[in-house]
Amino acid sequence: MDIQAMLQRAYDYGITYIDKGVVANYIPELAKEDKTRVGGAVVDTDGSVYTVGSDQYQFSIQSIVKIIIYLCVLEHYDFDYIQKFIGVKPSAKPFNSILALELSEKNIPVNPFINAGAIVGTSLLFRKYGNNTFEMILKRTQELIGNDKIDYSRSIFNSESSSAFSNRALTYMLLNGKIISPDVNVDDLLNVYFKSCSILVNVADLAQLSFILSRDGKDSAGKQRCNAEHARILRTIMATCGTYDYSGEFAIQIGIPAKSGVGGGIVTASRAGYGIGVYCPGLDAHGNSYVGTRMLEVIAKELSLNIY
Ligand code: GLN
Repeated sequence: MDIQAMLQRAYDYGITYIDKGVVANYIPELAKEDKTRVGGAVVDTDGSVYTVGSDQYQFSIQSIVKIIIYLCVLEHYDFDYIQKFIGVKPSAKPFNSILALELSEKNIPVNPFINAGAIVGTSLLFRKYGNNTFEMILKRTQELIGNDKIDYSRSIFNSESSSAFSNRALTYMLLNGKIISPDVNVDDLLNVYFKSCSILVNVADLAQLSFILSRDGKDSAGKQRCNAEHARILRTIMATCGTYDYSGEFAIQIGIPAKSGVGGGIVTASRAGYGIGVYCPGLDAHGNSYVGTRMLEVIAKELSLNIY
């Protein structure tokens, strides 16, 4: 398979949908993104990297960091204990739904990939790392991706922290439901979450993360960057919850585990061992990159990745 030619076909197909998506305008800084910017990257099974489009462009990781936050939680607590704070059930509601949290059993966020679940995950890490929590998450992101230059965007962080009213509402509900410990300072906690969402990556960085997840935690040199069992758990939750209330349709159309972010990135995981990341900031109504999803249709089909 000529991966470069395949990526180009995915790009050519994806851009035919360029008018469909809408940039995330609830975070003012993201509203400035150019929705005609499209990129994709594939790490082949031997570790070679192929890219197409705006491959150098850095965008905010947004909800894709929820994979890393939950991985850090798994690395510090038993899975059974975590269930008391964050479930693993798919959600039929939007990622920032207050109603979903209100309806959930004992106010426990249904999964780690909706905002409430990631905020609780952050609070569990906060218990261990206090004011160093963000530094720990950033360092873990650099290690997993294999890029120690990875940093966060101050402007996107400031923009989100001054406009994130629904995340504040969710956090107070979690405090009220005693899912978050009352001694945590809400601003400190949310600042860690917002900084984590503002981490800047390009499509090749996402493809490296995808490569690790797809290969039970091993990088192309055979180094174990995360535990194989944790990679399996993450792939499973990506399959069932990674594209929120679009996850069922995504499973039918694309058929591989994936996690999206409102920055426009999508990272996948596939047991075939490729690493795949795509980007375009125009989103569908569920918060997933519209063109990115279309590109993945082609990539998954041509590389025969559908797991179902
Ligand atoms: N930072 C975003 C938020 O909390 C992340 C949401 C997303 O990417 N779906 O709203």
